[in-house]
Amino acid sequence: MRIVLVGPPGAGKGTQAAFLAQNLSIPHISTGDLFRANISKQTELGKLAKSYMDKGELVPDEVTIAMAKDRMEQPDAVNGFLLDGFPRNVSQAEALDEMLQHEDMKLDGVLDLEVPETEVVKRIAGRRICRNDSAHVFHVSYKAPKQEGVCDVCGGELYQRDDDSEETVRKRLEVYHTQTEPIIDYYKAQGLVVTISALGKVEEVTGRAMEALKREDDAA
Ligand SMILES: [Zn+2]
Repeated sequence: MRIVLVGPPGAGKGTQAAFLAQNLSIPHISTGDLFRANISKQTELGKLAKSYMDKGELVPDEVTIAMAKDRMEQPDAVNGFLLDGFPRNVSQAEALDEMLQHEDMKLDGVLDLEVPETEVVKRIAGRRICRNDSAHVFHVSYKAPKQEGVCDVCGGELYQRDDDSEETVRKRLEVYHTQTEPIIDYYKAQGLVVTISALGKVEEVTGRAMEALKREDDAA
């Protein structure tokens, strides 16, 4: 199965992608991992990407597309993959279509994780991270520490990352609306989009997603 996962920041996309990929026995290909892998292995594409990032510039679509293509051609991706973070705009989506057509392949579905904007802001802006270990994550509403501002695990001080401030979240949502949401319409025109609610427990969302993908697969 070849799937693209889309959803706003705070939809739990990374977590869902990992579970779904495991359930479907296909690799989870995330743009973040692609960049990290290419940069740490110092591939030509990695060096190129880094040169833009070092200047504080956006990595051009061609570089991201080439990295994704390279990854999708690895042997573990022959039977499918789950893309997370790519494509992130219509021109990347068009490039992906071209790539797949060239190999006589097509996408099986585009899973759209839906979360109300107020919930996105609440989810992200409520996050608190431990200064001693960034894996100690709490949330003021959903996973409150026993004592406010103190890590349950190690007693460290909890803080809010700059990235998680309400202002930053609203900016990220704006970018999502203008750049990424149009790909949903692009894929709707191909009849590929299945929308599910990303509210509720992680395993509930995974269950919903698996069912929706199964229906999509049966219909195809
Ligand atoms: Zn801690």
